Amino acid sequence: MTSNHSLEFDSIIVGAGFAGLYQLLRLRRAGFSARVIEAGDNVGGTWYWNRYPGARCDIESLQYQYGFDPDLAREWRWTERYATQPEILRYIEFVADRYDLRRDIQFSTRVTAAHYDDASARWTVHTDRGDAFTCRWLIMATGCLSVPKTPEVPGIDAFEGESYHTGAWPHDGVDFTGKRVAVIGTGSSAIQSIPIIARQAEHLTVFQRTPNFSVPAHNSLLDESQWQEVAARIAELRAEARTTSAGILGIPLNDVSALAVSEEERRREFERRWAIGGFAIGGAFNDIAINLDANETAAEFVRSKIREIVNDPETAEALCPRDYPFGTKRLCVDISYYETFNRPNVKLVSIRDNPIAEITPKGLRLQDGTEYEFDAIVYATGFDAMTGALLRIDIRGRNGLALRDKWEHGPRTYLGLQVAGFPNMFTITGPGSPSVLSNMIVSIEQHVDWVTDCLEYLRERDLAVIEAAPAAEDAWVDHVNQVADLTLYPRANSWYIGANVPGKPRVFMPYIGGVGLYAQKCAEVAANGYEGFLLSPEPALSR
Ligand code: FAD
Ligand code: NAP
Repeated sequence: MTSNHSLEFDSIIVGAGFAGLYQLLRLRRAGFSARVIEAGDNVGGTWYWNRYPGARCDIESLQYQYGFDPDLAREWRWTERYATQPEILRYIEFVADRYDLRRDIQFSTRVTAAHYDDASARWTVHTDRGDAFTCRWLIMATGCLSVPKTPEVPGIDAFEGESYHTGAWPHDGVDFTGKRVAVIGTGSSAIQSIPIIARQAEHLTVFQRTPNFSVPAHNSLLDESQWQEVAARIAELRAEARTTSAGILGIPLNDVSALAVSEEERRREFERRWAIGGFAIGGAFNDIAINLDANETAAEFVRSKIREIVNDPETAEALCPRDYPFGTKRLCVDISYYETFNRPNVKLVSIRDNPIAEITPKGLRLQDGTEYEFDAIVYATGFDAMTGALLRIDIRGRNGLALRDKWEHGPRTYLGLQVAGFPNMFTITGPGSPSVLSNMIVSIEQHVDWVTDCLEYLRERDLAVIEAAPAAEDAWVDHVNQVADLTLYPRANSWYIGANVPGKPRVFMPYIGGVGLYAQKCAEVAANGYEGFLLSPEPALSR
């Protein structure tokens, strides 16, 4: 459908997930006109697209929610420690209705291009429906994990059975009853879906290239008092979360080296945190993320758990990660993942040294010629993370500079908020900010608040242009790299460094300095009159 109208707004926001919705609300309340453009036909972002069986948050529901409105927190009751995808989606829909957000959202529309005009200091935003919106402020709330990635294997379209990607799951659900199913991948999406698919399918084969470290969620129902306690103190708790390293409360760091204690004591601490579940294990010692020997103690602890849980020693060994440090690929949080390999209808196939050569009409063939037949293939193969959604859009800044060219060797931003050469464009949880290394809702709120305050500041002073200064961007990129290099993270072939996408530049994309330090830096930058940004009035006035 082509609408072919041209419309002017103060701001265009791309994406209607947690970030786009909150950004719309803040701008509306601040008196800016705004329109959200969303490719999907409803709100929700991640939670609209990822409907695979078992999908749920891995940060506890009581923290994985908006914190900006105490009334909202009191009105919504979470039922489980880790909410399921349907419950999170219902919450986001509730938020959209509660604040009457839908009237400013254009659904089923994909932004294809955004071009900056130097003369007017405005963006023109083009969509696949023929729209050409103009705006002063372009806010990319396009998500860090919103472009599903299928493997570069020949024959994918030739498969005669059913194919699914976890990140683009059918809305009506899928019934695997009586089917022979393949799951390709063993990241968080696979680890959540495998136990459920295994219970349905006649037979499940899991194709694993790299084993992941996974810890138990110990999911449970939330009782009334837990929920009420958080609801009553949400603003205070959110403010506190913003001072922590990952935007998560309740994971006290045991400020001791893993190498400074006896083996028994170490084991006791790891066991204690394993029993708590979720990311608690990350705080067991203060040097797990920076010292390889300390890290190995955590890695070996999880491997020992895998061996305890999985009956077949060969399968257990294959499930044990060995070639990257613990936690340097996103830690997975599971409900009965390892236990699932004790089922008679589940088989693990390691494809580390024998990759998939081809998807065939009946199934798939490995490099050594082994063939498998399936009724359904599930690609749990992840995303073109952090830069994928931005680079799919033809974004052109000052003098026609293409973002794809600017980021040819990897993303460069100032604070993950702006890109030099792309005035008046903001990226919510962009590369160079804590984003995916944090509770994303905390980071989203921090960015949206910062951007909104910034736009109010500019309006009060009749300023029409804000742009990251190249020197500030260079210094920030250096800092982001330096901090990453202090840790073990760059040693893993993770999506954090783009390793999952062949040809993608290898750059550690998120900022690992911590939410607290980062938020403080952003606040200081603002307090100093947006230090590191170039601010100017209307172009016509300045000439
Ligand atoms: P998204 O929710 O990704 O929304 C972006 C939206 O932009 C999408 O709806 C997309 O359709 C739209 N869009 C993109 N490009 C265009 C375009 N060109 N035109 C129009 N629309 C466009 N984080 C946590 O902190 N805790 C968790 O427990 C957690 N669990 C997760 C589970 C899964 C399965 C996945 C995939 C991610 C998870 N995350 C989690 C990360 C999650 O992405 C964020 O928490 C959060 O939902 C991101 O919100 P967002 O609004 O920034 O982006
Ligand atoms: P992912 O972590 O990138 O995992 C993708 C998996 O597919 C990996 O095991 C990868 O192997 C494998 N793979 C990719 N290409 C392959 C190929 N050509 N052949 C064989 N295997 C291939 O993706 P994800 O599981 O969707 O998770 C992405 C992120 O989303 C997570 O890290 C997390 O941040 C978020 N998430 C969170 C939750 C949650 O628990 N709340 C759930 C899902 C997702 P390699 O490791 O060898 O590349």
